[in-house]
Amino acid sequence: MINPSGCRWCGVDQREHAQRWKAPAGWHQWEQPTQQQIKDRMNARRTERNRP
Ligand SMILES: [Zn+2]
Repeated sequence: MINPSGCRWCGVDQREHAQRWKAPAGWHQWEQPTQQQIKDRMNARRTERNRP
């Protein structure tokens, strides 16, 4: 499930995040996604929902 406001590096929700490893960021804290990322994720989620 895509979360538009998830971490900009790994997409995990801020509440569940803590420290996570994800390339290319490596170990990181939750970080606000960019406006473009939020938009792209919302589009992706809409596409996913319309799929049978
Ligand atoms: Zn993350």
